[in-house]
Amino acid sequence: MPRRRAATPWGNLCDDSRMSSRQITIIANWKANLPPSNEVALAKEIAEGVGSTLRAADNPERLRVLLAPSTLGLVSVASLLRREYPQAGIEVAAQDSSLTGSGAFTGEIPADHLVGIAPVVIVGHSERRRNHGESDAIVGGKLARVVAAGLTPVLCVGDDLPVAEIGARVAYVQAQCAAALTAAERAGCSTAQLFAAGIVIAYEPVWAIGTGNPASVEIAEAIAHGLRSALQRDELPFLYGGSVDAASAAAWFGAPTRRTSIDGLLVGSASLHADRFVAIVRAALAVTRPA
Ligand code: PEP
Repeated sequence: MPRRRAATPWGNLCDDSRMSSRQITIIANWKANLPPSNEVALAKEIAEGVGSTLRAADNPERLRVLLAPSTLGLVSVASLLRREYPQAGIEVAAQDSSLTGSGAFTGEIPADHLVGIAPVVIVGHSERRRNHGESDAIVGGKLARVVAAGLTPVLCVGDDLPVAEIGARVAYVQAQCAAALTAAERAGCSTAQLFAAGIVIAYEPVWAIGTGNPASVEIAEAIAHGLRSALQRDELPFLYGGSVDAASAAAWFGAPTRRTSIDGLLVGSASLHADRFVAIVRAALAVTRPA
């Protein structure tokens, strides 16, 4: 059954029952905020909070929670979660991986070295693009490496247009996404392969990251609709990221009977506090409850 959309140019709130059964993904991006020992302590607190939330839920399978620690913390956080909190089902994501494979590349993180540690890799975060000059060509090459390693990429896209019409934002992000996919194709990874690998798009407007000024749900849904139409992929998993906090978390998802088309959140600052992050997870779980 095709997804029903409300009659706005951008899609908007959706009341198809299939939508309410879609899985929601919440990813914590800890960036380089904490040394590995603190990351392990935070992972414990979050696993305890998420674990008890899921135990009390009738729909825990509807939620996918991932923690993206720094590269130094990846192995310790992954083994802690597997060893001590398997029932919480939390997975680990890498914040980045390299354009290179294995070899004489000092300091690099080849995607195939993440196999068995992090099933998901964030690619093209705006901080990498801005601080490390990552072009669309580099982002596309990294996507290809991640897929070749058998991992799932989360491709970050986002406009740098604090004031703009929604249509301009949609066009910007469509072009950015297309450029990354074209570059991935040049690096040997077709768009069909990216879809088969379960590529997730995270819309993170640059002006919303770390500013306390999130985008509106309307903007995020317009981008989701624009990308799904351009890629002819109605089921493209779409996350929003940028100044998400516990107080506003529920708004991103709508209600069980009237879900938005947003499939999850990428959370920066608020994920550094276990209570705030667990509250976001709770808000996400509430919307997947059968109505
Ligand atoms: C991010 O940078 O991925 C992010 C979402 O950050 P914040 O939540 O702090 O805006």
